[in-house]
Amino acid sequence: ALTIGIVGLPNVGKSTLFNALTKNNVLAANYPFATIEPNVGVVSLPDPRLEKLAEVFHSERILPATVSFVDIAGIVRGASEGEGLGNQFLANIREADAIAQVVRGFVDEDVVHVEGAINPKNDLETINAELMLADLQTLEKAIPRLEKEVKGKKADPATVETAVAAKDALERGILLSQSGIDLAPIRELGLLTAKPYIYVFNVDESVLTDAARKAELEALVAPAHAVFLDAKIESELIDLDPEDAAELLASTGQDESGLDQLARIGFDTLGLQTYLTAGPKEARAWTIPKGAKAPQAAGVIHTDFEKGFIKAEVISFDDLIETGSVLEARAKGKARLEGKEYVMQDGDVVEFRHS
Ligand code: GDP
Repeated sequence: ALTIGIVGLPNVGKSTLFNALTKNNVLAANYPFATIEPNVGVVSLPDPRLEKLAEVFHSERILPATVSFVDIAGIVRGASEGEGLGNQFLANIREADAIAQVVRGFVDEDVVHVEGAINPKNDLETINAELMLADLQTLEKAIPRLEKEVKGKKADPATVETAVAAKDALERGILLSQSGIDLAPIRELGLLTAKPYIYVFNVDESVLTDAARKAELEALVAPAHAVFLDAKIESELIDLDPEDAAELLASTGQDESGLDQLARIGFDTLGLQTYLTAGPKEARAWTIPKGAKAPQAAGVIHTDFEKGFIKAEVISFDDLIETGSVLEARAKGKARLEGKEYVMQDGDVVEFRHS
């Protein structure tokens, strides 16, 4: 499953945010038999289309697409050199598909800031420096090994070339994700700064409505995406029923909770989209990479669907709602039979034919 690791300095609000993520627990609600790991919080990708589909098909339940967040202990200055949790902790984020870095923007004299003062720019630099140092260490260890393997014809020369280019970029202070280097040959190294990043600014309510301040913070992390939320409010939202939650959100000038934003931006950052299926049992969203073709999409439901793929019957969501049923959509020529080369589109409602 798709996982995003949460990192940040101590006392920036990671646990508070993570509690909101785990309380939200869509898995517990939708997949009663799923095992829920204590350090994983799962949020659903908001998709109002699913409710409409469930109406058309009289579906018993709705299964949204999900994004998992893995809680990881805080990074302190010196983490890459074994201070604090050090390398062991860094090993835990190598597995994540993306990294959400929580940055403290809230002011509270009762909550000590590990670096002495609230300074988001400084905090970002501290964390990024630690992650870059960790990557440098990884590369310094890997390069001699890769060189040997290339000599023995056990590895592609591209691995060494890429590793050296990556090391060079890091030495110049460039995050690998922003280096323009194609890191595919050394993917197995799990380099931390090669992953897509989302920046989560944990700010006071007053900042949520302050467009100018948000633009300043956004500029610190561009071109990466920034999410602004108040972790304390997020943990309150979770305990409210939908109307009260909407009211609290509106009172802070937002139309979407921070958790919803995180799920949406996580999807976007990772280049993912969904397609939809529906029937009397469930209306469901399935996660695929943007640009996926029909057989690959079928494979997300079941590998047999991909192997035995014949055709996909596709109706776009808007056409389905307009015609009111699959039968009507077919009668009006809105149901298309697509083959192996079809590139899935956002909002496709699909039924696969397979052998
Ligand atoms: P972590 O060390 O990054 O996991 O940080 P915690 O989530 O434990 O938060 C550290 C302290 O800051 C706790 O006392 C939280 O209640 C407080 N805190 C977290 N988020 C906010 C926030 O948005 N506003 C304020 N005022 N306090 C917060």
